[in-house]
Amino acid sequence: MIPVPPEHPKRLVLLGHPVSHSLSPLLQNAALKSAGLQATYDALDVLPDALTSVLRELARGGVAGNVTIPHKEAVRAACVSVTDVAERVGAVNTFWHEKGKLIGDNTDVIGARVAIATLLSERVAPLRVAILGAGGAAAAVLVALEEFSSAAISIAARTSSRAHALGERLGISLHVADSAAAAVKGANMVINCTPIGLKAEELPVAVHELEAGACVLDLIPRNGDTDWVRECRNAGHIAEDGSRMLVEQGAAAFERWFGLVPDRASMWRALKLARTEVATARSKSAGAVTRPA
Ligand code: NAP
Repeated sequence: MIPVPPEHPKRLVLLGHPVSHSLSPLLQNAALKSAGLQATYDALDVLPDALTSVLRELARGGVAGNVTIPHKEAVRAACVSVTDVAERVGAVNTFWHEKGKLIGDNTDVIGARVAIATLLSERVAPLRVAILGAGGAAAAVLVALEEFSSAAISIAARTSSRAHALGERLGISLHVADSAAAAVKGANMVINCTPIGLKAEELPVAVHELEAGACVLDLIPRNGDTDWVRECRNAGHIAEDGSRMLVEQGAAAFERWFGLVPDRASMWRALKLARTEVATARSKSAGAVTRPA
């Protein structure tokens, strides 16, 4: 194992609440191991009231890391300096310390950009995108979409004022639809930026509402495809969950912390291994339930 050079972090954390479901520790520890770096990455469940004191403590140890719901905007506000992208999105998902000062970036934008580009390849023009949700992930997706010229965007959000505010803040022309079903009408790409489906309860929008041939990106990186992704594929849509965005935002964060390109193959292997273990555990417990006494 290679000792981490003094200017790089030895400890990395994911700040969020809740965080136990996150796949980031798995991916980042795989990348650290593959790079031979003696650093650790773990998830820290931090209540909003405790964030300021936790950040103070992390600064003392020169700890770097990632940020997830609900702390991205608060960490952005706590940073002494942020990248242009983080400033534009208004949220930080990656942080580190320089001379004791907290610096922030938003690598969700890169992750979203790669996920969108991979899904599209060269098949869609002109691009008509429906975005479901108007929180931090939607902001990152909207900034990522600026790379794809002249995308027409419709957006639906439970709190529609947030969708209007997002368009105004980013200076992007958006059609704010009354419902998810209305937003996806005419869209050749649909992106779920809500947590609907995280607990496998409902779908962000019924699959029959989608235009034929629309491609689908569900930002939820579940350990195993989301029900929505599965149902969309069954109906003939090209559909991906949030795994690629997760790996790519994580890879970009790794580069910020260590100035090294991580071994993405090791990150994907870790993800796939965890999926196999989850699937095996599920089928065992199903077997245990149905096995005769
Ligand atoms: P957020 O800032 O809390 O925004 C969530 C959005 O979804 C808001 O518009 C919210 O509406 C809406 N929403 C929440 N629950 C809903 C429900 N039950 N029905 C309808 N709308 C609902 O969260 P975020 O940071 O944008 O994250 C959204 C999702 O993206 C999460 O599942 C997260 O895991 C995922 N994500 C994935 C990656 C990745 O790398 N793959 C990266 C970032 C985020 P209200 O305003 O009314 O609450």
